[in-house]
Amino acid sequence: MKEFLEKKYKLIAFDWDGTAVYDRNSDCHQLACVIAKFLEKGTKIAIITGTNINNINNQFLSLLESDFKQNIYMLTNRGSEVFAYDKNDTLTNIYSKIASQTENDILDKIAIKIKQQIEITSKTNIKIIFNRMNRRKINLNSEWENPPKEMIKQLVIDTNHYLDKHGWSGRIKKVCDMVNTLAKSYQFKNLKITTDGKFVEIGITDKKDSMKWLVENIEVDENEIIVFGDEFGKIDGINGSDYNMILKGFSEITYVSVGVEPFAIPKGIIHEKGGEKKFLEILNRLLANLNN
Ligand SMILES: [Mg+2]
Repeated sequence: MKEFLEKKYKLIAFDWDGTAVYDRNSDCHQLACVIAKFLEKGTKIAIITGTNINNINNQFLSLLESDFKQNIYMLTNRGSEVFAYDKNDTLTNIYSKIASQTENDILDKIAIKIKQQIEITSKTNIKIIFNRMNRRKINLNSEWENPPKEMIKQLVIDTNHYLDKHGWSGRIKKVCDMVNTLAKSYQFKNLKITTDGKFVEIGITDKKDSMKWLVENIEVDENEIIVFGDEFGKIDGINGSDYNMILKGFSEITYVSVGVEPFAIPKGIIHEKGGEKKFLEILNRLLANLNN
């Protein structure tokens, strides 16, 4: 038996897409059932995700039946918000970081300049999603609609090929480098960049902010924390979005990736490939420990 499976954790934190669910249409009844049992045992649960609370509510929380909902936290919008249930079981926003007007303006300017700089030298059509809290999403590959997380390696290859095919010789990495250069020119400090192989996302927060919030606000020893994700490895040289959940100075936290992780993953991350099915299997194993 692997050592990490034998422990009793007091805080279980996990990424959503590609870790807890295959995609946004996945059925969550089984997951809701297991999570309810953890909540009942007093285990704190934390969902750390780039998406918004409405998506998590519709897909998952609406199925969660428990008298102990106050033990679950939703850290949404890639580090910008935290939601929890109050004493009346009402879902409540308990933390928000909101970009200033200046920060929002600079995020817009950087996204637009990236689009212009790529399009002026190629036949590539870059679309930007502006209406995300504290961040902008630069779509580098409009040929893939909703790529499943397990296809990430192919997606990265295709995105770089797509850019190349349309006459832009840079890769995803080059776009990120350009973002950094622009951020510097605007004296924008602490710009957060992530990529999932299709989008380059720029914003003021990332999953590190979510992890910091957890260790600062939930009373639990670091060796009683386990964190699950699926994108810890580098994507075309850029840290995957879950990499940002690795907190410096907290070496006792257990990290598990259930993702495909086609690129090298950081040392110390336990790799249990198998996506949402493996995640559920591990949760059931950990639940059994609590009953012993
Ligand atoms: Mg994920």
